[in-house]
Amino acid sequence: MNKGTEIARAKEVLIDGGLVAIPTETVYGLAGNAFSQVAIDLIYATKKRPKYNPLIVHIKEVAYLDQIATNIPQKAYQLAHEFWPGSLTLVLEKKANIPAIVTAGKSTVGIRVPNHPLTLKLLSDLDFPLAAPSANPFGYISPTTAEHVEKMLKGQISYVLDGGDCPAGVESTIIGFEDGEPILYRHGAIPLEEIEERIGKIKVVNKENVTPSAPGMLSQHYSPTTPFVLTGDVHLELAKYKNKKIGVIVLKLNRPIAKEHLVLELSKSANIEEAAKNLFAAMHQLDEAHLDVIIAQRMPESGVGVAINDRLERAAKK
Ligand code: AMP
Ligand code: MG
Repeated sequence: MNKGTEIARAKEVLIDGGLVAIPTETVYGLAGNAFSQVAIDLIYATKKRPKYNPLIVHIKEVAYLDQIATNIPQKAYQLAHEFWPGSLTLVLEKKANIPAIVTAGKSTVGIRVPNHPLTLKLLSDLDFPLAAPSANPFGYISPTTAEHVEKMLKGQISYVLDGGDCPAGVESTIIGFEDGEPILYRHGAIPLEEIEERIGKIKVVNKENVTPSAPGMLSQHYSPTTPFVLTGDVHLELAKYKNKKIGVIVLKLNRPIAKEHLVLELSKSANIEEAAKNLFAAMHQLDEAHLDVIIAQRMPESGVGVAINDRLERAAKK
C-alpha cells in the first residue's frame, strides 16, 4: 500500500472510482466518490460493513450543502456556520444525487466539512463529495494515524493520504433534526455543552431504545481483539486477576500500578482533549501487545470525556 502527501495522486485514484484513506481532525476516513455506486460498494466491501450502516458525506464548504441536501432547517445552517470545518455531522434530508447505498436506504444523509488542510485541499480539487466512514474493519478500533490504516487495510486500498496524527482523536458529534429541532445521535469530538451554548437544549437519543439497525448506535464497536474491561476503579479490577498479562489505560496515573503491567496514560496533565487524541492509539498499541486483558479507566463525564466513555463502553461490550 502506498502512503504519502500527494493530493494529485489521491485525486487520480478517486476519479477512477478507487478508495483513498484521508486524514481528518477526528479519525482517518476510507473515502470514495459519494456519487459513484461502484466506489461506495467498494467501501462497504473493504470495511466488511453491514449495508444498514450509512456513511458520512464529506463536503468542501458550507455553501455546498444545498447541492446534496434539501429542506434544511434554519438551525442546521446555524450549526454548519458555527462549527464547519469541524467535528460536527448534520443528518439532513438528502437530494436524489446521493445514491441510496450511501445512506443505507434512508431519506437522510450525514454531512460534514472536515477540518484537515490536506483533505480540504483534496475536496476543493474534486467536483464530487467524498463518502467516508472510518478507515477500520467494521467493529474494530478506529484509526488516528496513517500507520493504523496501513496495518488494518493492508493491500486493500490504493493510497493513504498521510496527514499525521488526528488532533481530535474521536469521531464527529452527530446531530439530526425532528420538526426542525436538533437531536443528538452520537456523542463525539465536539461536546454537547458546546453545541447547546450556541443553539439551546438538544434532545439526546436514548441509547437503550435504539434498535441495532439505527446507525452509529451499535452497542458493540471500537473493539480490540483482546478482552476489554471498563472500570471506575482500576486497582479493584486488577485485584481480580492472577498471573495474567494486563494492559491498563488511565487518564493520568495517580497511584502506582505494579511494574509487570503495561500502563498507558492518556494525558500526563489529565487534559481530557489530549486523552481523546491518544485514546485509539493506546487501544491499538495494547491490542498488539499479546495481553490477556485490557483494563480501561472510566474518564470524567464532562466535555469530550462523554464521547471517550461512550467509545470505551462499546469497546467493552460483549
Ligand atoms: P463512521 O464514519 O464509521 O463513524 O460511521 C458513520 C456514522 O454516521 C454511522 O454509523 C451513523 O451513525 C452516522 N450516519 C450517517 N448517515 C446517517 C443518517 N442518515 N442517519 C443517522 N446517522 C447517520
Ligand atoms: Mg466507524
